[in-house]
Amino acid sequence: MTLIDGKKISQEIQASIAQEVQNMIAAGKKQPHLAAVLVGNDGGSETYVTAKIKACENVGFKSTFIRHPDYVTEEKLLQTVYDLNNNDDIDGFIVQLPLPRHINEHKVLEAIDPKKDVDGFHPINVGRMVLNLPCYVSATPYGIVQLLEKYNIETSGKHCVVIGRSHIVGSPMSILMAKNTSLGNCTVTLCHSKTKDLKSFTQNADIIICALGSPEFLKADMVKDGVVVIDVGTTRVASTETKSGYKLKGDVKFDEVAPKCSYITPVPGGVGPMTIASLIKNTLSAAKKGIYK
Ligand code: NAP
Repeated sequence: MTLIDGKKISQEIQASIAQEVQNMIAAGKKQPHLAAVLVGNDGGSETYVTAKIKACENVGFKSTFIRHPDYVTEEKLLQTVYDLNNNDDIDGFIVQLPLPRHINEHKVLEAIDPKKDVDGFHPINVGRMVLNLPCYVSATPYGIVQLLEKYNIETSGKHCVVIGRSHIVGSPMSILMAKNTSLGNCTVTLCHSKTKDLKSFTQNADIIICALGSPEFLKADMVKDGVVVIDVGTTRVASTETKSGYKLKGDVKFDEVAPKCSYITPVPGGVGPMTIASLIKNTLSAAKKGIYK
C-alpha cells in the first residue's frame, strides 16, 4: 500500500510557484494578486480562507481579505464582486461558500468575471471544463487529478466510483475521470444518497473517490483488494485529544480499508493541501492571463 502524500506534493507545487513568482517580479512583472471574500464568521470557512491567504503570501502573491457580516445584503455582496471584477490589480478572487440563506449563491457566483473565477465555479468555467476547453477547474477536483498524475496511477479503462454529486467536488470529478484525456478514460459510476446497494458498485471499483461528508462511511467489506481510494471528506468531530476541541475525519475507515489498497490518501494530509495548491495554480494562471488571453 502506498500512502499518497498530498502535503508533500502541495509543498513541491508551492515551492515551484514561489520560484516562478520571484522570476516574474525580477522581470518587472506585476505580483500576482488574489482576493478572498468571507461572509459571516463560521469557524470552518474562516479557517479555510485564512489558510488560502497564508498560502498565497507564502508563494509571494499579494492578497486582499474582504469580510462582510452574515447580515450583509445580497446587493452589497454583489457590489463587492463587481468592484473586484473591475479592479485591474486583482488577478483572481474567491467568494468562500457557503453563503447565508438570504443570499442567492448562484447569483453571486454568476456575477464573478469568469476570467477571475479561480475557484472554477462560474457556469462558463464549468461548461468549458465539460467541453474540454481551457478553463479554471475547481480546486479540489483539480488537486485530485494532480495527485493521480504525480503517483502515475493508471486510470484508462478502470472503473471509477465517485460517491457524492456536489457541484464543487463529486460532479466535476466524475466528468474529469470520464474524459478522453491522458488522465481520464475511466468508466465512471456516480453514486449519491439515492443510490441503491452502493456496496455493489464500490466492491467492483478500481478507483473510489469518496466525497460525501460522512465520517468513516467506506468500510473494508465495501472494497476489493488493490483499489485506489481518494478520501475527500473532512468532517469536524469533537475530540478531547486536540487543543481546538475537534478532529478532522475522512469518509473512509482508514485503518481497515488501507491494508486492501494499492494507493490511499490520508485525512488530513491528502486532498486538503492539494485544494490550496490548485487555487494558487489557478491564480498564477490568471495573473499570466494563461487561460483567457
Ligand atoms: P455536499 O454538497 O454535502 O454533497 C454530498 C454528496 O454526498 C451529495 O451528493 C449527497 O447525495 C452524497 N451523499 C450524502 N450521504 C450519502 C450516502 N450515505 N450515500 C451516498 N451518497 C451520499 O458535500 P461536498 O461539498 O461535496 O463535500 C463532501 C465532503 O468533502 C465534505 O466532508 C467536505 O467537507 C469535503 N470537502 C473537502 C475538501 C478538501 O479540500 N479536502 C473540499 C471540498 C469538500 P445527494 O446529492 O443525493 O444529497
